[in-house]
Amino acid sequence: EPLPFAQLISEVADRFELSAQQKAIQLVRNLYDEIIVNGDSDRLEQVVSNLLDNAIRYAPKGKPIRIILTEEGPFAVLMIQDFGPGISKEDLPKVVERFYRVDRARSRKEGGTGLGLAIVFQIVKKHYGELNIESEEGGGTTVVVKLPLFE
Ligand code: ATP
Ligand code: MG
Repeated sequence: EPLPFAQLISEVADRFELSAQQKAIQLVRNLYDEIIVNGDSDRLEQVVSNLLDNAIRYAPKGKPIRIILTEEGPFAVLMIQDFGPGISKEDLPKVVERFYRVDRARSRKEGGTGLGLAIVFQIVKKHYGELNIESEEGGGTTVVVKLPLFE
């Protein structure tokens, strides 16, 4: 079904404002209003929610998180960018696997099951979309979700 994507993203981001504030993190939104995607609103809310949860959880205090929505050909493109610790080359292909967590004191301490990205990957796939994670150790992380536009 047709969904105004910017509105959906905004609503999810609003729910994260409190936990972001607790880490002095600003959620910087840059959302193009006109974008309509074809999908299930509950599932797509879960995608945005899992990604924001990660960005806020793994990013350091005081660094902003950028949420960008644009259009590219027949796709809506959502980017969630943080300035956190990043993910190494070796771990990057594995983080979308179920229960995989980067084996570090930091992620053990941060508690979580390692399912968030696996769920995101499945939902995006079901929507005929694409998931890309651009990340480097120490260089922050940008998660890019492409979803077909409604037509
Ligand atoms: P859950 O989401 O189930 O509560 P989780 O966050 O550990 O647990 P995923 O969301 O699947 O699980 O992420 C897998 C692992 O990828 C994380 O444990 C973390 O090590 C790494 N990771 C995910 N997002 C980021 C990020 N934005 N920055 C740095 N590392 C990340
Ligand atoms: Mg997670």
